[in-house]
Amino acid sequence: MTDVLVIGAGMAGSTAARELAKAGLSVEIVEARDRLGGRTFSVRGFCDHPVEGGAEFIHGEEADHWDFARSAGTTTRAIPQMKDMQFNIGYGTKSLPATLMHPGIWASFKILSVIKRHKGADLSAREFIEKHGFKGRARIMAELTLLSHLPGGIDEVGIAGLLEDNVLKLETGTNYRVNEGYDTVTKHIGEGLDTRFGFVIQQIRYSDDGVSVTAESGETIEGRAAISTLPLGVLQSGDIEFVPGLPPSKLEAFKQIKMGPVVKILLKFREPFWNPKVSTLVSSEGPVTLYWNVFYGMTGERPSVLTAYTTGPRAAAISAMSEEEGVAACLADLKNLYPKSDPASLFLESQKIDWPQDRFARGGYTFILPGGTGARAKLAAADTGALFWAGSATATTTIAASVQGAHVSGVHAARQAVEWLQKRG
Ligand SMILES: Cc1cc2nc3c(=O)[nH]c(=O)nc-3n(C[C@H](O)[C@H](O)[C@H](O)COP(=O)(O)OP(=O)(O)OC[C@H]3O[C@@H](n4cnc5c(N)ncnc54)[C@H](O)[C@@H]3O)c2cc1C
Repeated sequence: MTDVLVIGAGMAGSTAARELAKAGLSVEIVEARDRLGGRTFSVRGFCDHPVEGGAEFIHGEEADHWDFARSAGTTTRAIPQMKDMQFNIGYGTKSLPATLMHPGIWASFKILSVIKRHKGADLSAREFIEKHGFKGRARIMAELTLLSHLPGGIDEVGIAGLLEDNVLKLETGTNYRVNEGYDTVTKHIGEGLDTRFGFVIQQIRYSDDGVSVTAESGETIEGRAAISTLPLGVLQSGDIEFVPGLPPSKLEAFKQIKMGPVVKILLKFREPFWNPKVSTLVSSEGPVTLYWNVFYGMTGERPSVLTAYTTGPRAAAISAMSEEEGVAACLADLKNLYPKSDPASLFLESQKIDWPQDRFARGGYTFILPGGTGARAKLAAADTGALFWAGSATATTTIAASVQGAHVSGVHAARQAVEWLQKRG
């Protein structure tokens, strides 16, 4: 029997399995898809360079998986925050300094410090904005600050959860794109480990004596212990039966954290109609949260590709559309954002990556609902015998719901499993 079964071959699972193998244990990864990487998923073949369909950035220089990014032989390019950006908050598309020069916005400048000082009862983003009296353009900027990183609506995102999840760290510092594709890093970590692809788990039995997982095909594999890295959306969906049922604290956590919708549409054009010196266009209006100029920061001639990135209610709406309808919505939106250009006449092709429709993700990533602080610790708790828990939704010590969160959670759960097996002899 394998010492540890690792469920899922995304960043959390690959990391956990690598750590367990390093500790001298036998490990088998079971994965529903036919590839490593999970929600790190680099699209190759859309143009002559990888474009991210899942996670886009390594956030900051302190991210815990940098060593692996380097040992994978990847190169990265910096995408500074709050530089080379454009905003459209309903008054035309403007570069960042021009957006900020309007006096109507100035009241929003204090928002980060106001959030950091937040104490007392938790508030939704809407309640917080109303309590602090952000109005007009300042309100729009405040909403963007609170919501643009998270896949939730204004009544869903909780301020205390946003603080607990270290989301404000995303507002500063530098992001990095992996030139060879982000999934190169995950694949490097998971490379060479014993992995069963196409193993779609439908039942997990656990006790102190071990864990067995049964696939849709009826096949069962057993381990002396196991680590689940199943995405929260999959756990919440009820697709997987747990025997015995999960403890009440985990079921409670399922209600306090939401797996929010995130959809990307990759858009290829004959030539750019945007300013190549701009990295990102953030929009408070229209169907798309932001557009990335994908090859920003690269020298030489590059494909003209934008990623339309939508989160929360806007992503839910795009997810409900066909790809054709979604593209039409993006092209109309881009025409609105750049009225002097003609995006439709330059458009070549698209690819929609619809994470809410993906049955092995059931959403993009997670955030904490109002009143839900502490829920990630409940998800991560080692309270199910020989079955341990990892995955980005369980991360509490770094930016939660991120690739680095997944990585850290994998290291943590691997340690728990090693200790457990040592104690049991
Ligand atoms: C569009 C998008 C953009 C993002 N941008 C960023 C970003 O810029 N930076 C950042 O840090 N993070 C970002 N994230 C979040 C980040 O990608 C995830 O938090 C992280 O990759 C999750 O890793 P994980 O290992 O926890 O889960 P996953 O990568 O989802 O791995 C879980 C694995 O479990 C498998 N699985 C599911 N169901 C079953 C089953 N029934 N049986 C067997 N296996 C199963 C899945 O196939 C998957 O491989 C983004 C996510 C999305 C979707």
